[in-house]
Amino acid sequence: MKFATRSDIDAHVMHSGRHAGMSWLFDALETNRAILDDHFSLCGEQHARYFLRFRAFALDRTAIAGAVDLLAAEIPGGPKAPTRILCPESAGFELGRALSRRLALPIAVLAVDRTRRPVPRLVTGQLDPDDKVLLVNDIITTGQALVTMSRFVTSVGGQVRHIAVFATQGDAARSFAGRNDVPVSHLVHTHWPLYAADACPLCREGGAPLPAAEFN
Ligand SMILES: [Zn+2]
Repeated sequence: MKFATRSDIDAHVMHSGRHAGMSWLFDALETNRAILDDHFSLCGEQHARYFLRFRAFALDRTAIAGAVDLLAAEIPGGPKAPTRILCPESAGFELGRALSRRLALPIAVLAVDRTRRPVPRLVTGQLDPDDKVLLVNDIITTGQALVTMSRFVTSVGGQVRHIAVFATQGDAARSFAGRNDVPVSHLVHTHWPLYAADACPLCREGGAPLPAAEFN
């Protein structure tokens, strides 16, 4: 497996623009080999050369603590504060658990299917009908996981109050936030190309893609 070099990372990953002095985070992405460089198939029939393996970043205690500090600072307190965190039982769990500790909020965890997408079934914790929920995940790519998670919250009578993710890709996060009037906090935006499966230049060069879910 190859890993993205620092120049790959600088070319394809931007910080959110809301925080200063973020070079430590880009250093951590590189040194923890958190961005894979090969040929991946993602959920939603898209292919990409790079894949963010958040779990590798989250194993770095200093890096995850720094990321959690920045995200936690954006979560409102007082009457607007969330009452619970909901995350999936995939790489997003690492961030959900860390934010749960940092914000002293109870956590509920959704099961995932064999492609690591969340399904509407809790494996840990509970949601109450009056819960104001902070949705947490590692990355928003297609937005499908966000839709599943927010429908689950609504189905039990709760309300999505805020979304916190490590990374966003494409427009899915912004369009979800706009449609649902829910703020999204993120630290980085990845903008490497995503290709439709039937128009992927990496496929044309030969070689089948690796299923990204295997690395998450
Ligand atoms: Zn391909």
